Amino acid sequence: RQQTRGFLRQKSIKAIAEPLILPFEKESEHLAAWHPQSWRQLKAHQQPNYQDENKLKEAVDIISRMPPLVFAGECRNLQSRLAKCATGEAFLVQGGDCAESFSQFSANRIRDSFRVQLQMAVVAMFGGGVPVVKVGRMAGQFAKPRSADMETLDGKELPSYRGDIINGQEFTPEARVPDPMRLVQAYNQAAATLNLLRGFATGGYAGLQRVMDWNLDFMAKSDEGRAYMDIAKRVDEAIQFMVACGLDSHTAIMTETEYYVSHECLLLDYESSLTREDSTTGLWYDCSGHMLWCGERTRQLDGAHVEFMRGIANPIGVKVSDKMDPGQLVSLIATLNPQNVPGRLTVIIRMGAEKVRANLPRLVEAVRNSGQVVTWVCDPMHGNTECVAGYKTRRFDNIRAEVEAFFDVHEELGTVPGGIHLEMTGDDVTECLGGGSSILETDLNSRYHTHCDPRLNAEQALEMAFYVGSRLAE
Ligand code: PEP
Ligand code: MN
Repeated sequence: RQQTRGFLRQKSIKAIAEPLILPFEKESEHLAAWHPQSWRQLKAHQQPNYQDENKLKEAVDIISRMPPLVFAGECRNLQSRLAKCATGEAFLVQGGDCAESFSQFSANRIRDSFRVQLQMAVVAMFGGGVPVVKVGRMAGQFAKPRSADMETLDGKELPSYRGDIINGQEFTPEARVPDPMRLVQAYNQAAATLNLLRGFATGGYAGLQRVMDWNLDFMAKSDEGRAYMDIAKRVDEAIQFMVACGLDSHTAIMTETEYYVSHECLLLDYESSLTREDSTTGLWYDCSGHMLWCGERTRQLDGAHVEFMRGIANPIGVKVSDKMDPGQLVSLIATLNPQNVPGRLTVIIRMGAEKVRANLPRLVEAVRNSGQVVTWVCDPMHGNTECVAGYKTRRFDNIRAEVEAFFDVHEELGTVPGGIHLEMTGDDVTECLGGGSSILETDLNSRYHTHCDPRLNAEQALEMAFYVGSRLAE
């Protein structure tokens, strides 16, 4: 295995050394026309139609004066971790709700989602022998792109729900009016969420010697829960051994972990009002989250989202479906990462297992031939959504098949699978079908709580981590 990983590293270094075909010659030239508000000159898709401009201005003014939620140095650290994911020296596990909501905001839910991610990291690290970079879809994942502007129910038509940062989910005309003050509420909830996550990450809870305590109560009797405890016991023994050897119990892995947050960069009024100039580098960072990604519906090369994202210095991602062709992807990468900085750009593939096998090789080869360095990540959720018994759901087997196809394609090409991006929760929900716990179609109505897309529950998420660990070990 060591040899394989060494080989992969050599490949990617060779790729970096090849001549680059890039549209921008100098960084200064490339960013000359950029400003946190320059996106306003271009077409911004998927934005709410606010009716009260003054109220919007008031909300934007409030957030513009609020402290940053994340700091430039943290974003740079994440970027260096993601650069390791691009070469196979680390692996990204990014996950959380499809949409965070105001009504389901609770400390216990945040803790449970965080701890399943800690468990997944242990399982994948133990199986795969590489560090896992943990990034939540949390503390800002509020705005949702929609396939239709209007929703029809019982013959009545109303504007679609676009996430709690924009309007309400209830099917009433009042709830569906976009309310700018929701931006402020979202900021406040993101701040409280991050405060708790920072406490969990650095206050002792996430220290590796607590590995046995992270199993969720309802998991104790499940196969995944038991398999997790087997690994946890072995990790615990290894730690005790290391302590006996003289490992300091105050060392960082014993007391804290690194955890980052991310969300889709969709609502540009929110994102641009949290974009601040870093005093040490003079670069602009979107301080609403460490990593931001551009959704499948808003990644137009000449659109407002790409314009905004090319100027922020955070590590960024872009979602890619089967609608993307290789030439288009190379241009998009060149626009978003003209300096070809490793870790800067993550390409998140979401197209379903069959299309991954059919289309991904062409995309990966085009990017490799152009000398571009990206972190390839698999989102096995969004190409697998279906409607069953009136519920939007996904089958665990299809989700796993897409991850499998993603690993296979990279193995065949000698390139690097850098991570996975999941919609998941620490709750014991019944939103995705199958998995070891065998959620059936008749179970969907039992605990279907998502505000948007169906999420893996804790057992299903852990099962996925075991699968990823086994693939990383090959
Ligand atoms: C999402 O991540 O929830 C999402 C809407 O994804 P995509 O842009 O890939 O459809
Ligand atoms: Mn989703």
